[in-house]
Amino acid sequence: MYADELKQKVIQLKGIGKGSSEALAKIGIRNVSDLLRHIPRTYENRKDRVLLSDYREGYVNTIVEITGQDYMGFGRKRTLKVFIKDKSGTAVLICFGRNFLSQKLITGKKFFLYGNFEYRFQELQASSFEVEEFSDNPAVFNRIIPIYPLRDKLTQGVIRRAVSEAISELAQYTHNQLPKNLVQKYNFINRNEAVKNIHFPESLEKLKKAEDLLRYEELFYLQLTVGRRSREPRRYSRSFTDSDSKLQKQLINNLEFTLTPDQFTVLEEINQDMESYSPMARLLQGDVGSGKTLVAFLAALKIIESQGQVAFMVPTELLARQHAENAARLLEPLGVRLAFLRGNIKDKHRLPLLDALKKGEIDLVVGTHALFTKNVEFKNLQFVIVDEQHKFGVHQRAALLEKGDTPDLLLMTATPIPRTLTLTLFGDMDVSVIKTMPIGRKPVITHLSVIGKEDKVYSAVKTEIDKGHQAYFVYPRIETNNSPADLKDAEGMYKYLREEVFPYYHLGLIHSQLPEEEKIKTMELFSSGKIDILVSTSVVEVGVDIPNASCMVVEHAEQFGLAGLHQLRGRVGRGKNQSYAFLVYAKELTETGKQRLKIMMDYNDGFSIAEEDLKLRGPGELAGRRQSGFLNLTYADLVRDFEILERARDDAGKILDNDPGFLLSENSVIREVFDRCSPFKGAIDAE
Ligand code: ADP
Ligand code: MG
Repeated sequence: MYADELKQKVIQLKGIGKGSSEALAKIGIRNVSDLLRHIPRTYENRKDRVLLSDYREGYVNTIVEITGQDYMGFGRKRTLKVFIKDKSGTAVLICFGRNFLSQKLITGKKFFLYGNFEYRFQELQASSFEVEEFSDNPAVFNRIIPIYPLRDKLTQGVIRRAVSEAISELAQYTHNQLPKNLVQKYNFINRNEAVKNIHFPESLEKLKKAEDLLRYEELFYLQLTVGRRSREPRRYSRSFTDSDSKLQKQLINNLEFTLTPDQFTVLEEINQDMESYSPMARLLQGDVGSGKTLVAFLAALKIIESQGQVAFMVPTELLARQHAENAARLLEPLGVRLAFLRGNIKDKHRLPLLDALKKGEIDLVVGTHALFTKNVEFKNLQFVIVDEQHKFGVHQRAALLEKGDTPDLLLMTATPIPRTLTLTLFGDMDVSVIKTMPIGRKPVITHLSVIGKEDKVYSAVKTEIDKGHQAYFVYPRIETNNSPADLKDAEGMYKYLREEVFPYYHLGLIHSQLPEEEKIKTMELFSSGKIDILVSTSVVEVGVDIPNASCMVVEHAEQFGLAGLHQLRGRVGRGKNQSYAFLVYAKELTETGKQRLKIMMDYNDGFSIAEEDLKLRGPGELAGRRQSGFLNLTYADLVRDFEILERARDDAGKILDNDPGFLLSENSVIREVFDRCSPFKGAIDAE
């Protein structure tokens, strides 16, 4: 299918001019291969008749005779009404903005008609309809027609013409490339037919068969790529002199607390992965505050001890800085050479730092997205840690992995990831869970309050601060310039709280638009206890760890998603103090808004909240679907096609077990799918 001919430009197709080809280019369709992969959003079945009397089916597809015309309204605003009948009854077409149809829909003539009808003003009416004069060989009737996603000036007509031309000119380049035994096993139609039928289905059965093949094929190739990776041996030899890591022991001894049993277990799992034959692909799930970072640091030590380098990627600069500081405190005393890579390209420390990384003079680098940019090179990257992994795209992780030679990968998240996704991305990913919280933690007490009654909240916060504790106040917006005036924002409330409510306390403000230096300063002051109240946006949502903070006030809580609220609440309850979350909501709550707040009251752990969230939003909103966007799948959908995915995975696995190099080089389809989908190759999605 993806022979060179398909790289031909759309404009070379018969009947496609400059205008159309430019319109297509705007939605990313440049060559014929792009065009054929622009699959219909849905179809209209104009094959099987649905008479006027059956309008409740959702649409009507019938042959009508025109019985008369009339107008409603007067002057320029008048609108043509056309009376029609088919063998089941009569109806009216309302031609909003289409009075010109009076020339065409002439009394006595017969037409094919497709439209959506409803009963209004005692008659059966349609204002959205399509007609074509009755004939033996209609262009857009008596068939199932594709409805493509459109943008701007593109029309269905242009895309249909281009696709139909592409199929008839280039069909000869299509042939089956799936292994014969699989084609037989699933009774697949051939690929050429599938491509034709996904665009212009001969029948609904054929459409189904086309979808079956194309979805399976795509997932099969994807599973070949990930399956190959998980069977791949490390390409470098790693020697741990001692399977017990000295540095790990030292760090554990230096801590003021002991690891929780789950932290120990997970560390053991990771250590075993690191000593095994193939690279680690492990997902570490643990609720906010469960102590994932420490486990990651411990894991890093084992690699560092054997002269490997470690990259620790986090989603925000705030969090990167915090991790870098913790690393400095915990790891530097053990002799670990650290670096903190900031996003700022003008940073004067950047060049020497990049140089040191490349020479292998740095053992552990902590950074944001800056880590996977092109000019970051390692001497011997052996371990990649991604914190809050759901904040990154697949390609971003991939780009970082590419900087080493089969490095180990540890993803950390407080948000459970659906199995579909781990299956897709890693063939099979190992999962570790930290369930036990460090001892002495008390569950956060959550209070709800409606806007207008926030005084009570403010005075509760005062009591806490007077005990020497600290508080966060979080708002959905930075400032209200372009948003509704009745929405509180961080800048305005910072001023108000400082002047009116807490004049005798120290307040700080932090949000993404402040200069970097100012943010750093403010965080330092908050972290050292010199600021009592930090007013902010959701920038403090991920990872920020200030154990002395005991109050989290979220105003306009209804504006936040459940995952966000849970993360925010997770900023408190990290020390020994009893902590509180105050969720202040606006009066006009939607039904889901109410449900969300109720869930926050009823549940404290992230897993239950994620589950409830899923119930509330339905499976279509799974984290998986959002993340799978990064995969650029054309035909398959990870949520809908989970069963196909599992089959494809088994099939690919069996093949690779017998022949690890299967279809590696000569197959052009697989190369194409690799380039497009492989999480381990391909382009970087710049933020
Ligand atoms: P997570 O990233 O899982 O939300 P962190 O790694 O930020 O959690 O840890 C939260 C806090 O708990 C940190 O202050 C950390 O030092 C502390 N901590 C980690 N492990 C333990 C433990 N076993 N006992 C007590 N405190 C711990
Ligand atoms: Mg964390």
